[in-house]
Amino acid sequence: MKKNSEYLSAIREAVCSICVDSDEHGECTLTKNELCAVEYFLPRILEAVHSVENHDMDEYIEALREKVCKYCKTAESEESCHLREDVNCSLDRYFPLIVETILKVDSDH
Ligand code: SF4
Ligand code: SF4
Repeated sequence: MKKNSEYLSAIREAVCSICVDSDEHGECTLTKNELCAVEYFLPRILEAVHSVENHDMDEYIEALREKVCKYCKTAESEESCHLREDVNCSLDRYFPLIVETILKVDSDH
């Protein structure tokens, strides 16, 4: 069983390094008052990704909405989220890469 810290460091390497909210060293530039959903919801994100068996991106997105977005205070309703609509949620913006990174950690020995 992989530890959450292993997933987090793989995500930092793959996602934070290219995130528009990181500096040239891949360090997050969000302030303490801004929360990144990727870190905040990591256990739920892992649960969502691991609940999908057939590697279908639509199903991963469905699981994300069901297991993460539903619990996020930013969501105005089950269908609507202004951060998502403005492409301003890092979790949503980089979700395919996040899924790929999590699956890669799973397959690493
Ligand atoms: S906003 Fe999230 S994904 Fe982007 S650099 Fe910061 S921690 Fe990483
Ligand atoms: S897309 Fe919206 S509801 Fe889902 S995690 Fe991001 S901010 Fe929260």
